[in-house]
Amino acid sequence: MTLRRRMIVVSVEIRGVSKKFGKVEALKGIDLFIRSGEFFAILGPSGCGKTTLLRIIAGLEKPSTGRVFFDGVDVTGYPAEYRNVAMVFQFYALYPTTVYENIALPLKSRKYKGKEIYERVRKISEVVGLSDKLNLHVNKLSVADKQRVALARAMAREPNLYLLDEPLTILDPVSRIIMRSELKRVQRELGQTVIYVTHDQVEALTLADRIAVMSFGRVEQVGEPDAIYNNPVNTYVGWFLGEPGMNFIDVQVSGEGLAIGGSAIYVNRDMAAVLRKKGFDRVLLGFRGENAIVSRHSGGGGVSFASRVSVIEFLGTRYIITLEAGGQEFKVVMDTKRFEELSPKVGEEVY
Ligand code: ATP
Repeated sequence: MTLRRRMIVVSVEIRGVSKKFGKVEALKGIDLFIRSGEFFAILGPSGCGKTTLLRIIAGLEKPSTGRVFFDGVDVTGYPAEYRNVAMVFQFYALYPTTVYENIALPLKSRKYKGKEIYERVRKISEVVGLSDKLNLHVNKLSVADKQRVALARAMAREPNLYLLDEPLTILDPVSRIIMRSELKRVQRELGQTVIYVTHDQVEALTLADRIAVMSFGRVEQVGEPDAIYNNPVNTYVGWFLGEPGMNFIDVQVSGEGLAIGGSAIYVNRDMAAVLRKKGFDRVLLGFRGENAIVSRHSGGGGVSFASRVSVIEFLGTRYIITLEAGGQEFKVVMDTKRFEELSPKVGEEVY
């Protein structure tokens, strides 16, 4: 028996959706297309509207304007029970009974018969790693196993679509990493559409086929993880992703070259010429800390400028060095070997 048998995999389109709660504009004109079978993450800080958007997709909330489509069918007016979506929340709500019963209950209400229920519970529990715990009362389970039961129960409902709202947030850091890869494996196995809400960029980057980055009720960028990370469309997305986030330094385009707070930047001359030609007299220099090299010498092939070491943080396998140039701070990442070679000290000047 395969789990996929009765499953329908849907695409989701959100067209011009906005939502007001009194004066609060939780969503301001959202357009998204989530492909069928895709693991799609909605990433953003607390209060940006992620949960509201998920609840609108589930039919638990009505949009103030806009429409929602499943596989091209307008479901905006459909109540939640007709949409056949399964939601898994940060805080699971389980029936106070055994693991088996928790998974079997949705199957019973779907009119499966005795042996078939047993077979499906067995198969689902295998997929989520609960096979040896079927007879335990859920109160006896670890937090991670309880979240597994919540996921298994969602699967037993055979939904067209999974909506997961920060399901790993309550787990301890170790279980979170384990469950993260399990979730990915389960989704691959089922091939279902999953919309996954999170404020945790690592979860979004590692789990998702594509990510929508949100802020203040808007979608800032949609794309594959590496595209979002390497080619952010604006400073917000660049800063929000990455640990540390992207650096932005105010640069003056002056005379023959570029400068930070009056001190020259060494660049290949073409770069300054191009900027001048475009009529810029100030630009933001954006770069990731792991793409910068700290050196005792100026020059080199790229962009180089003098700066002063202000903070050194050791993170086990790497160092994060905070530097200051022209009154502006930025961070660079150094691996342990490079750090030991250079051994920079607070207060020293480096390039
Ligand atoms: P979090 O991660 O903290 O849950 P979020 O990104 O999911 O945040 P939402 O919960 O969607 O954000 O909330 C978006 C905005 O809408 C917030 O300002 C919130 O206070 C407001 N909001 C959400 N639900 C309601 C409601 N039922 N009534 C009034 N305001 C609401």
